[in-house]
Amino acid sequence: MAIERTFSMIKPDATARNLTGAINAKIEASGLKIIAQKRVHWSTGHAQKFYEVHKARPFYNDLVKFMTSGPIVLQVLEGENAIKKYRDVMGATDPAKAEAGTIRKEFAENIERNSAHGSDSVENAAAEIALNFAGFEIVG
Ligand code: ATP
Ligand code: MG
Repeated sequence: MAIERTFSMIKPDATARNLTGAINAKIEASGLKIIAQKRVHWSTGHAQKFYEVHKARPFYNDLVKFMTSGPIVLQVLEGENAIKKYRDVMGATDPAKAEAGTIRKEFAENIERNSAHGSDSVENAAAEIALNFAGFEIVG
């Protein structure tokens, strides 16, 4: 195993319900460190670019609308095996299928409004961090 960095987002459904602290508590309890964090409001263009891989999926337009509907918290998380570890802390995409104790089981409203994002590979983590923290030196 290796020390990795992953890109995380607290989505608009969660910021609207003041769940940033509760989600951060779960991240920190898992041993992952929040080494960068900022709250922003995405433009439509930025959301379209971020989710370009899902462009052909039926939920793409709604997802872009949802992700630009309110503030989101962008983060870089660091730790052992951080990419897989944070996917486990979040739980399954659909909260109905997520395990007890996970962020999505406890907080998500449905498969779209599912409170959190985490990168799914080393390559995507690096690309997502570069896209969202361009110009910032992340020192950990
Ligand atoms: P994320 O990329 O946000 O960490 P994920 O990797 O578990 O989630 P993806 O398949 O990459 O899931 O989907 C990206 C996001 O698109 C999901 O988190 C969710 O907000 C939305 N989404 C995925 N599947 C559906 C669906 N069937 N209906 C509506 N929205 C969906
Ligand atoms: Mg994904």
